[in-house]
Amino acid sequence: MVSSTKRVLPSLVVLFLLQPVFADTLVSTQEEFRQAVSNAAPGDTIVMADGEWNDFEILLSGVGTSDQPITLTAQTKGQVIVTGRSNLRLEGEYLVVSGLVFRDGYSPTNTVISFRANREQLANNSRITEVVIDHFNNPERHETDFWVMMYGRHNRFDHNYLVGKSNNGVTMAVRLDSEDSRENYHRIDHNYFGPRPILGSNGGETLRIGTSRYSLTDSFTVVENNFFDRCNGEVEIISSKSGNNTFRGNVFYESRGTLTLRHGNDNLLENNVFLGNGVDHTGGIRVINKRQTVRNNYMAGLTGHRFGGAFVVMNGVPNSPINRYHQVEESVIENNTIIESDHIELAAGADDERSARILSTTFQKNLITNTNTKNSIAVHDDISGISFNDNIATGILEFPSDQGFEERPITLVTGTNGLLYPDMDIGDVGVSKSLTVIDRDETGPSWYPKPGYENAFDGGNVVAIAAGVDTLTEAVENSQAGDIIELFPGEYIVSKFLSLDHPLTIKGVSNGNVSPIIKYERTTLFELIDGGSLKLEGIVIDGSIAPDTYGNSAIRTSRYSMLGNYQLHLDNVQVRNLNTNHSFNFLKVAMHTMASDIEINNSVFEDITGHIIALDRETDDLGIYNAEYVSINNSSFTNVEGSLASIYRGGTDESTFGPHFSLNNSILNNVGSGNRNSSQSSLYLLGVQATSINNNQFSNSAPIRVIHTVGEPVTSLSGNEFSETSAPSISDYQRPVL
Ligand code: CA
Repeated sequence: MVSSTKRVLPSLVVLFLLQPVFADTLVSTQEEFRQAVSNAAPGDTIVMADGEWNDFEILLSGVGTSDQPITLTAQTKGQVIVTGRSNLRLEGEYLVVSGLVFRDGYSPTNTVISFRANREQLANNSRITEVVIDHFNNPERHETDFWVMMYGRHNRFDHNYLVGKSNNGVTMAVRLDSEDSRENYHRIDHNYFGPRPILGSNGGETLRIGTSRYSLTDSFTVVENNFFDRCNGEVEIISSKSGNNTFRGNVFYESRGTLTLRHGNDNLLENNVFLGNGVDHTGGIRVINKRQTVRNNYMAGLTGHRFGGAFVVMNGVPNSPINRYHQVEESVIENNTIIESDHIELAAGADDERSARILSTTFQKNLITNTNTKNSIAVHDDISGISFNDNIATGILEFPSDQGFEERPITLVTGTNGLLYPDMDIGDVGVSKSLTVIDRDETGPSWYPKPGYENAFDGGNVVAIAAGVDTLTEAVENSQAGDIIELFPGEYIVSKFLSLDHPLTIKGVSNGNVSPIIKYERTTLFELIDGGSLKLEGIVIDGSIAPDTYGNSAIRTSRYSMLGNYQLHLDNVQVRNLNTNHSFNFLKVAMHTMASDIEINNSVFEDITGHIIALDRETDDLGIYNAEYVSINNSSFTNVEGSLASIYRGGTDESTFGPHFSLNNSILNNVGSGNRNSSQSSLYLLGVQATSINNNQFSNSAPIRVIHTVGEPVTSLSGNEFSETSAPSISDYQRPVL
């Protein structure tokens, strides 16, 4: 054994004879590590020296025993940082890994942590505990890879930290793709599944168990006492695609989407807590398939609708192919509490294909309360196959059944576990008082800090700078995340790109009505690169000294894929003279970039030869798009040759919530009619899922064009005035005839 430090001292020779010799081997190089692994015997511990391990594909291979596993750990937990092109594979029996941190890199294979060395050599009875994967992302947003893949049987994944998976591919999956990985009895517990940003595409699930192909196989995986914090990737937070799994005692905090029983039968969901806090698209549980048991789950403040509702039971497809929707049968839904949640959907998804009704299912002893009476339970087909018994509800406009619901006023009080309960005895209806809510701090490793809830634009320094040539340029170059740069009336000339890889605010300090003016000499003023976000307040952006070349912009994203979603906020900003040549856009984005939100308030745009915001670069029709929320209020747009907004989300995939677009109380005058604007529209919205255009004045402008593609898009137009402007066109997508 190389450089081994034996626990056994010469004076303990008697003990030495009685006890097996366990070696703690401290390794400092990849070669020492490989040596130690090849020499490792049951009971041995390999200790990685503190520091950075770069470009390291760690393979722990060996056979331990249940009493004497082979362990890989850190000299100091949290101080062994694995970076670069690195990953971890386990192969053998009774292996334990703890204390490592993966960050500042990504896996050269398709997985960061894999419970197998290769397709033939799997790990069983092994455990990964207190390991961190922190933004360990492939830089190409739509390249697919995974953070954790569980194979084999009887493995445990616990107290780990998985935060910031930002590229395509489920964060963690249990695979059943070979005989040796089925009926696996894995345990996934006490993990911190931290923020997963909106992906803007399918492939953003946080946890998946199985795939449709093997979904009629039992997995026997237990997922318990995990904390899912802002897991917003797509409509499925968890996608269970196998049989006999248990989901117990997990908390879903402000997470968009649902725990979905997508494929497979005989699953148990109990004692889970869903806290939406009114955040958009937060959901609860979606039930599909046979013999599912959903009991004693608590759902509150959930806003999601349709497949993302607080509680959803789907219709099936008759004789369904394995990858579509099996009919719900013989399922039990009982003792759940649903408070102040907007949408319960029964027979959801009913259509010509999904016509197989729910059969032999009971819905009993559930408590549903709303303070404002509303129609929160939607019934989409015949639900005579559900028997409703002993439910108690308040604040429901229309009940799904004449029987099985007692309507009674309910006042709620906070119980000792922090959840809300009726202040009177209602028997054993709703969740039990003994329901335990796992605390965020009880999940993940204790030694690695969890992300906060602060606003990205806050927390930095305020830096005031004088007008002049490149004073702003220098200030931006020297800025830090969250800083606010203050400008004063006068001209700020910028001769370089202002490249931003962190959130920054630029704010004019007004002197009466005079605002600071920024002019720039390059083809764009701001370039948002990975990590960048921008807030502009009380300034003028003037394009008059930009080059005389076509395709300029005021703000653009990186020209390449961006992992980080950016924010762009404007308040009281004037934008003018973006007209040195044609196709001069205010915001220009590249393919595979994503804005989490773009907000324009109280701003004025004038004399622009391109689009104001062009979010139309995802032209592959794969259900990918460039912005989640676009909201424009109290603003005016005059003499704009392109569209105010051009948003494109093509394809038929139903895994996302956005894009969302709203335009309110704004004025458009001569917008959208330039001869280079191919859509000849003032607003071109294709595949937008939620559109609201209210109380605006359009004059002498091209029409609004809304094209619905997939899902059940919600489009509302009201209170708009159109003069010298054609009526809006709202249509369904017509596939081009080739
Ligand atoms: Ca999905």
